[in-house]
Order: sequence, then structure tokens, then C-alpha cells
Amino acid sequence: MDKFLPFALPEIGEEEIAEVVDSLRSGWLTTGPKTQRFEAEFARFIAPGDPLTHALAVNSATAGLHLVLEAIGIGPGDEVITTPYTFTATAGVIRHLGADPVFVDIDPHTLNIDPAGIERAITRRTKAILPVHIAGLSCEMKAILSIARRHGLRVVEDAAHALPTTHGGRLIGSLDSDATVYSFYATKTITTGEGGMIVTRDAEIAERCRVMRLHGINRVVFDRYTSTAPAWHYDVVAPGFKYNMTDLAAAIGIQQLKKAWDFQQRRQIMAGRYDDELRGLPLRLPARPHAGDIHSWHLYIIRLTAEAAISRDDFIHAMAARGIGCSVHFIPLHFHPYWRERYQLTPQSYPLASRAYGCAISLPLYTRMTDDDQRKVIRVVRETLRDAATPAPVRMQASGVAGGGVAGE
Ligand SMILES: *Cc1c(COP(=O)(O)O)cnc(C)c1O
Repeated sequence: MDKFLPFALPEIGEEEIAEVVDSLRSGWLTTGPKTQRFEAEFARFIAPGDPLTHALAVNSATAGLHLVLEAIGIGPGDEVITTPYTFTATAGVIRHLGADPVFVDIDPHTLNIDPAGIERAITRRTKAILPVHIAGLSCEMKAILSIARRHGLRVVEDAAHALPTTHGGRLIGSLDSDATVYSFYATKTITTGEGGMIVTRDAEIAERCRVMRLHGINRVVFDRYTSTAPAWHYDVVAPGFKYNMTDLAAAIGIQQLKKAWDFQQRRQIMAGRYDDELRGLPLRLPARPHAGDIHSWHLYIIRLTAEAAISRDDFIHAMAARGIGCSVHFIPLHFHPYWRERYQLTPQSYPLASRAYGCAISLPLYTRMTDDDQRKVIRVVRETLRDAATPAPVRMQASGVAGGGVAGE
């Protein structure tokens, strides 16, 4: 039997390995010169030639989102509008600050938060909007930023999936929101193992995040060892967090960032091939970006249509039995016990997110997949759908898989 194709794998080359070894030999392991270089290069990547763009490296996107919401003053009694169709970190950080997420249902075409729903959800307690660019497809940022301006709200983008993604021809991270946060978790479009980046053009947000990411100390450790002020001196100005990135992680990030456009190109070609080869099946294919815009293609999310003769769970089971790892993005937050019970939510609270979840499957899409790997995924998707639609006795003969894990029987 063929090797199992996992759902996701990072792409780490000799360049990353050499850069990490260089850091190990240098003796500087935690936040230092590599982190500074990664930040400078990231800022240049997002906004070339703009000296006002700050990039702040942190040890996860979750940490970055927490820091930004703290920096803009989110606290108990405040509401932050976001989507239930996301990873729990997006909303968890709102609760860390004692504030409440207010979930708004999705646009079923894009799986992203519906701007019209945002407008309806605004109350006197609303302080910010936290859109998530699901799968790497930009939210309707023009509409969201215009709503925010009209109501005096802050906008913080969860761009964990969106490097590189554009909206209206501009890279996410260079729009007029207050801050944007990226993830470098092992499965994301570029990785540092664990890590994240805050990008903002707001000097006050940048300064607050800089202080709060490292214990509330008002000067970074690196400066303590390079500036001419007494090396032992520092001021603690707040009970800060321990959210700094290590130079070992930054070393990986420096080399990954150089490949970000190549990775995007490869992902786009693979997404195009899925589109071409899966058309005509009982599947709803992912929404395309607006003309001229770039999709990072972090995820390729298909949805089974009513014509498919198989459930989502059985489909994933059948794919796995034939050697293909799939996943689901996302289990909406209102299906998780904490969120469901805390805010008394039911599947009917967000019917469009619930419906999308019920039939959503993420197919493997990553740069380490070969063309043969992808052809196998396509073939197995076709077989799985065809076998499900074929009466059982015939199916066994046709596929030669007697009792072989074809679900839905
Ligand atoms: C991965 C992810 C995060 C969290 O990223 P970490 O770097 O693991 O903290 C946040 N939001 C979304 C939508 C994600 O997919």
C-alpha cells in the first residue's frame, strides 16, 4: 500500500537549518539580532519603503492578538465582534481580557464574517472588530473598515492564514486597520515552529506591545546588552507577559520569509489544479479572490453538496482508509462546550456557519506535496464520491475494497 499522505507538513530546507545552526553557534538563543532582523525584513515584506510600519515578533499569533487587544484597551464589559468560524484563539484572547466576543455569522460563499451582520451586532459596548481571513481569502475589508470608521471602532485582523494575501491590490497588513497578526505555527504558510508577528502603523500600539511582550520591561533585553546605558538597569512599568520570540525561531522565519512568494505560487497552482479537476463533482469549491487579488491558499476547503451520497465524517474516514489525511476547518466556536455554555449558543445561533461546518473538508495543500501526491488526492476524492453513489454489492466489485473502510455503509 502507498504511503499515507498527511494533511499538512512544513517545508524546511537547508537554509533554515544553517540559519538555526548559526544562531546556536553564536551563543545568542533568545530574542536578539535574528529577531530584530526578522522583524525588519517582515516590515519590509508587508510595506516596502514605509518606515512607519512596525513588525513585532512574538511567540504565537495568540500572544500577538492578546497583546494588541490589551494595547487598544479592551477590558471587562467591552465587546469585540468576531466570527464563530475560526480557531478558538481568536475569541479566547478576548476572554483573557475579561471582554466578551460577539459572534457574527459568515458569508456562506467565502466563509468569512459577513459585514452586514457586523453592523447589526454593534452595541454601546462594542470596542473593536476582529475579522479572520479564513483559509487565506481576504475578508471584505473595505466594508469592515468603513463600518469601523462610522462607529468609532478599532479593527484588528487575525491574519493567521493570510501571508501573503491581498485586498484591493494591497497586502493584508498594509490596510488601514489598527493592527494585523500573523501565525508561524508549524502548519501555516510560513513557520517558525511556534511564532507570530504583529504589524501596525500605530506607534502607541507598537510601543505598548513591545513593553508587554516582555514582562512590562521598558527596554528590550537585547538593548540592555548593546546600549551604553548601565547594562543592569531596567524599569518595569506594567505586569507584562512572556511573549517574546527566540532567535532560534526567528532564524527559521528569516529563511521562510524569503520563500513566502514561492510558497504562495506553488499553493496557487495546486489550488488551480484542484479547481480544474474537482469541478462537476457533488462538491462546492472554495471561493476565488476578487479579480486581481491574491489568496494565500493556506487551506483548500471543499464542501459536500446535497447531491453527495456520503456524510462529511464518512468522507474523511474513507479518505483516510485510502491513505489521504484530511481535516476540518473549523469546528465553529458555538459547537465547543466552553463557548456554547458561556453564551448559551445553539447551532441555530449561527446557521450559516453551522451548515458550512457540517459539510466542510480541508484537502491536503502544502508545498511539500508532489504533483503525484495531488493527483492521488484527486483520484481518491473521485473514487470516494463515486463509490458512495454506487449500490453496495457493485461497489465492492468495482473498487475491489471488500470491507475496506468505505464508510457510509
Ligand atoms: C493558527 C491560528 C491562530 C493561532 O495561531 P498560533 O500562532 O498557534 O497562536 C489564530 N487564529 C487562527 C484563525 C488560526 O488558524
